[in-house]
Amino acid sequence: VSSGTTGTTVTAGLDIGGTKILGVAVDPADPETIVGEARVPTPDGEEQLLDAMAEVVVKLGSPAAVGVGIAGLVSRGGVLQVSPNIPGLRGVDVVAEMHRRVGLPIRVDNDATCAAWGEHLAGAARGADDVVCVTLGTGIGAGIIADGELVRGAHGFGGEAGHMVVDPSGPPCPCGRSGCWERFASGSGLARLARDAAAAGRLERARLLAGGEATAVRSEHVSSAAAEGDAQALAVMDAFARWVALGVGNLVTLLDCSLVVIGGGLVALGDLLLDRVCTAFRTDVMSPEERLDVRIVPAQLGDRAGAIGAAMLGSRELSP
Ligand SMILES: [Zn+2]
Repeated sequence: VSSGTTGTTVTAGLDIGGTKILGVAVDPADPETIVGEARVPTPDGEEQLLDAMAEVVVKLGSPAAVGVGIAGLVSRGGVLQVSPNIPGLRGVDVVAEMHRRVGLPIRVDNDATCAAWGEHLAGAARGADDVVCVTLGTGIGAGIIADGELVRGAHGFGGEAGHMVVDPSGPPCPCGRSGCWERFASGSGLARLARDAAAAGRLERARLLAGGEATAVRSEHVSSAAAEGDAQALAVMDAFARWVALGVGNLVTLLDCSLVVIGGGLVALGDLLLDRVCTAFRTDVMSPEERLDVRIVPAQLGDRAGAIGAAMLGSRELSP
């Protein structure tokens, strides 16, 4: 696929994860169709990472522009200030470095922001103009769409919903504060709830699935036991869903979204999680009777959401 030969313009989108760089090529006129895909392992080191990103762009053919989604605080000018997943990256001017390597227009944003834009244009949030997309993984990422446009904020740091403090006396967070939402409502939050319940003598079935030791209980053991209908595991899922709904309710109270898209690894829990979040949400949002049409749905694009959104944001760097 190359621009110019077919008369179509293709842009590349890169999602920089802790373990892999995923790249997709899309025609900005048709973001629902991926026309090229490439992935390489995420290397250690700043130069190596930037070189690997350039390599993915080359593998995608001849895109006209490149969008990049990367975890962390990314300034409006495309400088990665801090990255939680890739330690050591600080103050990296990704736009300048990538432009030097591939000579194309570059746009860089936070990965969850890109994922929200991808779901908005090609996934679960098509047609919805007021949306929050929440990615529940090891941590929590979020992207906000208001009036049909991405919310980037004054510095580009908008949408860091995972670091809203929901309990000031809660566990410490890598961001330096305590009791952030992601300490409770991410995969690591579920694992902590599970370990606490197992250590208190509950979760017998999950402990059995984990091999017998309370300290070995992980979120997957709880979800397996809950899927079997185990009451103690279901109680942990209830408690976990309350934490998810607490943040979702706060976000909807703040933004008045019509749609909440939940993505990330924990979506694999399916209705076991989403049904509980929907129920708890009704008590965790202000004036629920006025918001009966608010929907909470699973993401549709999986791990490609960020790359697709990045490609579409990259297309904005093309002159009209
Ligand atoms: Zn935090």
